[in-house]
Amino acid sequence: MLPQPCATRADDLYLQACQFVLFHHQASVSLLQRRLRIGYGRAMALLAAMCGDILECDADGGNPRILPAALHGPDRLLPHKLAQAATCLSEAPSMVLAVGAGMGAVLGLPERTGDGEAAHPLAARHANGPDLACIASPEGLQQHPASAWGLYGQWLQACRATPPHAGLALLLGWARRLPQGCFVVTGNVDGHVQKAGFPAARVYECHGSLHRLQCSAHCEDRLWPTAWLRPQVDASTGQWLGDLPRCPHCDALMRPNIRLQDDWHWNAARSQRQHELLEVWLDSAPQPLVLEVGAGRDDTALRRLTQRLHRRGSRLIRIHPHDADIHNPDTIEFALGIREALQQIGQHLHGSQ
Ligand SMILES: [Zn+2]
Repeated sequence: MLPQPCATRADDLYLQACQFVLFHHQASVSLLQRRLRIGYGRAMALLAAMCGDILECDADGGNPRILPAALHGPDRLLPHKLAQAATCLSEAPSMVLAVGAGMGAVLGLPERTGDGEAAHPLAARHANGPDLACIASPEGLQQHPASAWGLYGQWLQACRATPPHAGLALLLGWARRLPQGCFVVTGNVDGHVQKAGFPAARVYECHGSLHRLQCSAHCEDRLWPTAWLRPQVDASTGQWLGDLPRCPHCDALMRPNIRLQDDWHWNAARSQRQHELLEVWLDSAPQPLVLEVGAGRDDTALRRLTQRLHRRGSRLIRIHPHDADIHNPDTIEFALGIREALQQIGQHLHGSQ
């Protein structure tokens, strides 16, 4: 017979114990003892506390079984996870914020609707022209330069006209309270992290930036800002109107300094320098809290980086409406819309201060 549940839902290990049970599909005392390195009595008490929460038990408290709704229904551990995420944030000396396409203004067009965002108008504008993926490639630039630059011009206009994701303001407030500060890593090329107020010296844009130009022939390492560009694009055909931007040195077409699909011509120098700054910062903040927001499983560059930091001992909090592993006992993952998750964590954060 199991002991009666007492205050063990407040046990520091309660959330992780529940995650182990759900992740391994086993309501087992020995699993908890082994994975959490705790004694028999504490493991029994933890399991007993789960009855009614994620387990169902016999009337005498014995024979615990996982509630099917706990495995397949809405996240029953959400309140515990929100509280734990808020605790992590309030206790962390430093943070790496990994910002994925879910918070972006431009790329990842078809996926963005998942967070309740409006579909991007570019998808409709290019419905009758060459395929978006085809023209947004180094070959596409050479074969359809007016279409490719029409697309880049519209992206640039969208980046300039759209405000940053509302969640970035919330994250900036949290970042500013950290004693050792925050470093942002983003797979987005929209420059919106800086636009939201994060200092440029602590941003690593791993796919480059739409706000820099490079020579498509890569004749030199120099990059040019895009502030002077005033894109004129035919709204019906998506074609760039007027002269195409050309390299002042070799007269080859210019292109945005963003890493495209199968892109051997991307000038990675600026992005590499940002990466070096991140590594130097990590020397002084060796185990930052890692908060990954809106990076799907296909966002491999961001996910590799956050997993590497996690393996080195950092706590990992992940927010993604579809690509979150909510029962993973090693992380705190939220399968919620970004804005909703951040607001709920924020409420716990302010409640605990
Ligand atoms: Zn050139």
